[in-house]
Amino acid sequence: MIFSGGFPITDSSRFNAVEKAYSKTPVKPSLPKEATSGYFGCNVFNEKQMTKYLSKQTREHLAAVADKGLVLDRSIADQVASGMKQWAMDNGATHYSHWFHPLTGGTAEKHDSFSEPDGKGGCIEEFSGKLLAQQESDASSFPNGGLRATFEARGYTAWDPSSPAFIIGDTLCIPTIFISYTGEALDFKAPLLKSISVLNSAATSVMKSYFDPTVRKVTVNLGWEQEYFLVDADLYSQRPDLVLTERTLMGHESARSQQLEDHYFGSIPPRVLSFMQDLEVEGCRLGIPLKTRHNEVAPNQFEIAPVYEEMNLAVDHNMILMSVMKMVAARHGFKVLFHEKPFKGVNGSGKHCNWSVTADTGVNLFAPGKNEEENLRFMTFIVNTLMAVYKNNGLLKAFIASASNAHRLGANEAPPAIISSFLGTEITHVVKELEKSAAVIGMNKKSGIDIHVPRIPELLKDNTDRNRTSPFAFTGNRFEFRAVGSSANCAAPMTALNTAVAYQLIQFRKTVDDLIKSGVPVRNAVLETLSRYLKECRAVCFDGNGYTEEWKAEAARRGLDCETSVPLIYDNCLRPEVCEMFAFTDVMSPVELIARTEVLHEIYSKKLEIEARVLRDMAVNHILPIATCYQSEILDNIIKMKKVFSEEELPDLLDPQMKVVREISHHISAVRAQTDELTKLCEDLEKMPDGREKAVICHDRVLPYLDTIREHIDSLEMIVDDRMWPLPKYRELLFIRWKNGTVFR
Ligand code: ADP
Ligand code: MG
Repeated sequence: MIFSGGFPITDSSRFNAVEKAYSKTPVKPSLPKEATSGYFGCNVFNEKQMTKYLSKQTREHLAAVADKGLVLDRSIADQVASGMKQWAMDNGATHYSHWFHPLTGGTAEKHDSFSEPDGKGGCIEEFSGKLLAQQESDASSFPNGGLRATFEARGYTAWDPSSPAFIIGDTLCIPTIFISYTGEALDFKAPLLKSISVLNSAATSVMKSYFDPTVRKVTVNLGWEQEYFLVDADLYSQRPDLVLTERTLMGHESARSQQLEDHYFGSIPPRVLSFMQDLEVEGCRLGIPLKTRHNEVAPNQFEIAPVYEEMNLAVDHNMILMSVMKMVAARHGFKVLFHEKPFKGVNGSGKHCNWSVTADTGVNLFAPGKNEEENLRFMTFIVNTLMAVYKNNGLLKAFIASASNAHRLGANEAPPAIISSFLGTEITHVVKELEKSAAVIGMNKKSGIDIHVPRIPELLKDNTDRNRTSPFAFTGNRFEFRAVGSSANCAAPMTALNTAVAYQLIQFRKTVDDLIKSGVPVRNAVLETLSRYLKECRAVCFDGNGYTEEWKAEAARRGLDCETSVPLIYDNCLRPEVCEMFAFTDVMSPVELIARTEVLHEIYSKKLEIEARVLRDMAVNHILPIATCYQSEILDNIIKMKKVFSEEELPDLLDPQMKVVREISHHISAVRAQTDELTKLCEDLEKMPDGREKAVICHDRVLPYLDTIREHIDSLEMIVDDRMWPLPKYRELLFIRWKNGTVFR
């Protein structure tokens, strides 16, 4: 540490961390010798393992439970448990755990050992069907929105046989749902499973009645794209804000960040590639069909995506992978950030949810067809989805809104905080014709693009373009819900979407059936209804640039939900028509909706209160002392200059120095005054009961303090001697460097 005028001017821990971070070399990934197909799913109790460990009869019963939703026979559960235990022990597991998705947004697990005392001084390994099927836990220790008080705290986890058990480390994890003693859902999975089931029956019934009587079942698919940031673990540990809130609450923009647009799809930094390779091996062992990896737009930002799967499994796989990412990152000296906006001024992260529905006949209900009948089916599902999104645009926003995603929605790189749908020119044309004349016109097949480049083969054009600004874009054979945040459990928005579309299809079926009963031919009844729907839901279709101010004004004129305050957006969950929809479809009762909304408000307030406290501590303990030190140094210099220079020379020479002293004073006073006010506000908030009112105050009053205090601190960062600044700066955090490696990328 260097001393000047009695003050330390080098914060050694920051420079040590920077040096450590930059002197790392890529960690060699431990890649198996065999091809992926050789070890894919080896840590999952899948069909292959079941064939080895379970009898044919047990397997058939289990398949029927997963497939047809039959209730599991307890004697079968014992046999499954026994086979599962043997498989797990053969693969190194010593413990088992029910694994579930509580309303915290993460996952939960409690490990129990297989070993039990045998009463003779030794032990045996045990795992019964009862332990597999059901366990009890303290529901009041999880967010429950008042459903469980500490004095009546019982909650149950119940095995979900539709998602296979898996091994992580030494633990056999069993996917479960989590419900209260009185039967209310306390997790994301129970409503998700119900919503998948209700969409299955509604879509099947529409298909059977009007398009294909042989359809028995439809499957709801999800293909998620997980965006994330990586930061060096040593630099991360020097940032209390990242450690405690997952985002930087202060930090001046780096002179170079993403302006050159050279990170997106750029060559992957070797340190990161090693991490990705290890991650893919771990993911594939867990049966996650990982497919795509690439650099994202912001420096240090990346994406990983699997091939789409049945939705329940896809949701589990996303949550498993997020945990695995953290573990693998640690091996590579990284921290992975799932926060939607860890760094101000660069792109944030989303989790695009590609959503589609396929019939057991192999038809994707959102794929354009080859003839008029197929296209009528295609338009039926497109229009009903648009109608559901139109009627529930506020609700869908409520299911993706969070304290962290709010920093992303509406910012330049992300979808705006207004839910609309992009269809593309071709589909829009078909939709317009349908609305006008109640007729389905044919769609162009993929046509060629004349590119006039010698030796390059013809390109085929998709029937939709891309629109990065649309929160809910049609992308050829699926909808891409782009507004979902990177840290979210996709089960929540998918539950809302499935339920809304299912409810819409139920109403569609009723309307069309009424028309048929009154003598209208089936085809005409479908066409007429769709045409009428289109007139109503056109307001939600928007192909333009969702980032513009004009769109905001236009969306408000169209009656779309334009609210940007997260606590007020949550009000959508309790609108009477929303309660009616969830109750009618039996996905969530009003009691469950009230509890869920309470949890949303509670988590929102808690996150902001934590950010306020961390910012205040960092301002007072890290920033103000350093700013004062630097100011003293300048004042020392001024005193020394006064001894050296003549009276006539001094004013000119001292003027710039005095200006800096005044600037620092201005920022110090402002930070001091504002943190005092914020502290007082937080004390008042502590006395308030959790709930909507508290969340509204956090949004209206705490957020502005966080912004203005940050502005002053970021200005100080630009003034204070770099050697004294205690926190790793954006330029140090945001570009992964390694020993002997290039500086950028
Ligand atoms: P993008 O170019 O939009 O970034 P990616 O290749 O990163 O696309 O991811 C697209 C995701 O969409 C993948 O998970 C992919 O499996 C999924 N997907 C493709 N077709 C469908 C479909 N019919 N239904 C659901 N998801 C799909
Ligand atoms: Mg992608």
